[in-house]
Amino acid sequence: MYTIKQVKRFVSEAVASYLLPATIEQTASTVFQGFSERLKARLNGRQERALKLALSGHVTHKSARIFSVHSEEGDHAYLVDLTRGYCTCPDSQKGSICKHRIAAYLVEQSMQATAQTSAGSSKSEPVSKEEEPLEKARRVLHAQSDLLREAIIYATIQHQGEALVVEVINLEGDTAIVRALPIFKDGKPVPQFPFEDRRSCTQVLAKSLFDLNIYR
Ligand SMILES: [Zn+2]
Repeated sequence: MYTIKQVKRFVSEAVASYLLPATIEQTASTVFQGFSERLKARLNGRQERALKLALSGHVTHKSARIFSVHSEEGDHAYLVDLTRGYCTCPDSQKGSICKHRIAAYLVEQSMQATAQTSAGSSKSEPVSKEEEPLEKARRVLHAQSDLLREAIIYATIQHQGEALVVEVINLEGDTAIVRALPIFKDGKPVPQFPFEDRRSCTQVLAKSLFDLNIYR
């Protein structure tokens, strides 16, 4: 006897392993197109390695947005939580967006694409009249049109107990990449580096962004 939870897990694992390579490739091409040049530079080829992992069946869906990803050598398995934007690998601990997270995201998106195709194309996502600002921002950042993608998105985050205004550079899954906005001193913009290791950019949970404003 299996519990419903176990059965659900078997089903989702089966879905993950029966994804068509073409679906994964198509998904990857759409996802990667939404990446800004800045993000691509930061990823430094991890997206290509992630695609390889996804195509070679290294990604197993565990539950909800939790995935297990075997390393390329296959001797380690790392746990990815897409909701928390977290992976157990050393690369992720260093603050990188690791290939495992990207691979898990590709598999998740491919699973959704597969589920939508089998449910029939007539079933479209209900679009609420008042789209959530976060969804709107995500749509803008991942838009196919360059014009839309060049929109500027500002938001506020809580940083060390204070409100900090940032530019949203990318939204990927539940993670946002943000850059602290410059402050003006004597009429000149001065960049800020408020994050760890004196960085101007950091990664935050998308849902921790407040007061999202899209300018275009
Ligand atoms: Zn990782």
